[in-house]
Amino acid sequence: MTYRYDELTWPEMREAIRRQPVVLLPFGTVEDHGPHLPINTDNVIVEAICLEAARRASEEMLVLPLVAYGLDEHHMDFPGTISVDMQTLIGFVSDVALSAARHGFTHILIVNGHGSNAPLADLAARRVVLESGAICGAMSPNAAIDPTLAEPIFSQMRRSNPGGVAHAGEYETALMLHLRPHLVKMERAVRERGQLALEYFNWDHPRPSILSWQDWWSRMSESGVCGDPTVATAEFGQALFETTVENFVRFVREFRTIPMRPRRDQHEVGERYA
Ligand SMILES: [Zn+2]
Repeated sequence: MTYRYDELTWPEMREAIRRQPVVLLPFGTVEDHGPHLPINTDNVIVEAICLEAARRASEEMLVLPLVAYGLDEHHMDFPGTISVDMQTLIGFVSDVALSAARHGFTHILIVNGHGSNAPLADLAARRVVLESGAICGAMSPNAAIDPTLAEPIFSQMRRSNPGGVAHAGEYETALMLHLRPHLVKMERAVRERGQLALEYFNWDHPRPSILSWQDWWSRMSESGVCGDPTVATAEFGQALFETTVENFVRFVREFRTIPMRPRRDQHEVGERYA
């Protein structure tokens, strides 16, 4: 059976609901990724991770069509970026997930591929839980965002210096060299590191940033790059992709085990604790 949600017929969908795979909702964006990568980079990467994971565990996952636009106002100085209002996005993404919950799917995972979408994905997931009772969560499989996923590969194969992987840098370029080599113009790749690296604020793998702050992109980058794409290789991309998919399958399998426990109104039974 297919693992693409929208390729099923409705009777097949009824069967799928009985089987209870995790419904994955990939959430990306269209934004500049330097002079060497296409503006669909985030969409390509997040969708590829979801589809490959579901291909390997097709009984356990169903992949919804990608939400291709995200929170991107801060990139609008670069030609081609599409930005959608943040309230609209929370509503839209949670409406899609809620629809799946209304059909009886109990486990829905918003899979985010664009850093700035993360807080919106979190809030959308919370709304789904509060309105449907389903288990809905959000995560970012991007190794540059979640350092725990690809640490062994990073420490072995990374070639750039600190600050090199942040945006359109070594990480995303390597993945695109693996996934869409015909769309990568390596001869146009430039190294640019305009992002700040402070004690409590930095974007580089694997140190987490304590401060949450997003400036206008054109204030820190002329090319759109924040990182070093020039050292990226398809081999690094393949290794990153492989380990990300592997870890992601494991992650989804654990997510699927989260029980849907009943709520309890403690206004009544809470008497016991008086
Ligand atoms: Zn990106």
